[in-house]
Amino acid sequence: EDLLGRVGRLHTKSGVVETPCILPVIHPANQPVSPKEMWSMGFKAVMTNAYLTRKFFGQDVSVKIHRLLDFPGVVATDSGAYQILVHGGIDASQDEIIDFEEKIDSDIAVILDVPTGLTPNRRHAERTVNETLERADQALRIFKRRDILWVGPVQGGLHLDLLSKCAREMSSKRFPIIALGSPTQVMEKYMYKDLARMILTCKSNIEPRKPLHLFGAGHPSMLALAVSLGCDLFDSASYNIYARNNRYMTPYGTFKLDELHYLPCSCEVCRKTSVKELSDLPFEERTRRLSIHNLNILLDEVNMIKQSIFEGGLWEHLIQRVRAHPKLFESINQLKDCYEMFEAHTPISKRRGLFYFDHLDLLRPEVERFRRNVNKNYSPPEKSRNLLLLPPPPSKPYSSSRPIKRFLKSAVAGKFDICLYIIPYGVVPFELSDIYPVAQTEMHGQPDEISILNTAEAVFQYLVSHRYERVVAYVSNEYWARKVLSKVKSACAKTSRKLTVFQHRGESWGDEAIENLIRIMKV
Ligand SMILES: [Zn+2]
Repeated sequence: EDLLGRVGRLHTKSGVVETPCILPVIHPANQPVSPKEMWSMGFKAVMTNAYLTRKFFGQDVSVKIHRLLDFPGVVATDSGAYQILVHGGIDASQDEIIDFEEKIDSDIAVILDVPTGLTPNRRHAERTVNETLERADQALRIFKRRDILWVGPVQGGLHLDLLSKCAREMSSKRFPIIALGSPTQVMEKYMYKDLARMILTCKSNIEPRKPLHLFGAGHPSMLALAVSLGCDLFDSASYNIYARNNRYMTPYGTFKLDELHYLPCSCEVCRKTSVKELSDLPFEERTRRLSIHNLNILLDEVNMIKQSIFEGGLWEHLIQRVRAHPKLFESINQLKDCYEMFEAHTPISKRRGLFYFDHLDLLRPEVERFRRNVNKNYSPPEKSRNLLLLPPPPSKPYSSSRPIKRFLKSAVAGKFDICLYIIPYGVVPFELSDIYPVAQTEMHGQPDEISILNTAEAVFQYLVSHRYERVVAYVSNEYWARKVLSKVKSACAKTSRKLTVFQHRGESWGDEAIENLIRIMKV
């Protein structure tokens, strides 16, 4: 687990799929890349539309969907709800769709819900939610097969109170998988902030053990966001739709083929073709090759996300991906609203270090968790009512940094509670400076103003919530350290404490600085 992302295993009757997982959508009649080719590319599961399949092959088909598609892996079927959204209705009942999904032996199957779409009309949204919940109860009564993983869709669209009610009720029913409906139009309009709100609302109202499927989310640049917010399964026809429109996916955004001079990818298609050759191909063949490329990009991105979760670097990956579009970037702020949930699922300690770039990284759970733990749980040793605040020593691990070792040998050091002030953590008790996350944090030398002010504020909070009689602050020559000092001054003034400020013009951790510091501490 990392943020709300997780790597999991979904057991179906046709095998296990690892999540997060993206299921390419197969059009039963019009398919540029065969499902079997997808299997050999590495896709373990695909999705097709039960309504369209039924229309194409008839209700009385006696062949399994795996045979029809010639796909040896897991096959999921959508119900046709999207067609309702687009065409206003379909000529099939839920009974017929469910009966058909059971006949063709779907592994994962969606009931026929009623999509809310983007409607601002609350009464309409309410109707779609109520009807979807009724359909869910009706479906549970008519299911004959329990070996199929049935999907309970959550509707409500932009009406978050309706969405949360729908999510709560759907999750309490016997559906092993929950799906968030209606996001396709939200994504088409780049309403990522709303999408983030919808996902978080849904996620916080369903049982955590149930996988969450996000319908129609097929762009590589937004998968990291959706996974970080708690989605486990995705389906997408986008690889094909984009290809038909000469659109070439990259993790940083999509390009029109005629905008490209190079193919920045080394998949089987891009390795062997130039932009010109690709453009000159007949429509069918070009669509096919662009589809193969797009599928490769989606698969790479899912693998990258899984690797990030595994090593504890999902945040870093997410921050890179949201820079693909300002609207995607904007969605990051939604994380604040569900901070507790993110923290609860982010490991206490991670394999890899933590990179701090700018104030955006203040949102990551590791920073807030550390500060809170220090403020709440750290109490200075009984005998030392004196605090010494030091800038970070020149090398890590801090405790074995040569100047620190030299300093600690002085008798006066033992009379102080020694703490460091470090961006972004604020006050770091010296004995905690060699453990996660402080020791593993890599930071550059040019912190931005918000990071500085935020850290200074954390130092202030620490000082007013801990009882010291005297504070000695060693302020290094850097701009940010002087900013921190002004907050140290106001905290000491507020709590009527004696403050001694030590500043040194020369090398911060040189012998001369340490000697002078010791002299001042003795006074
Ligand atoms: Zn490629």
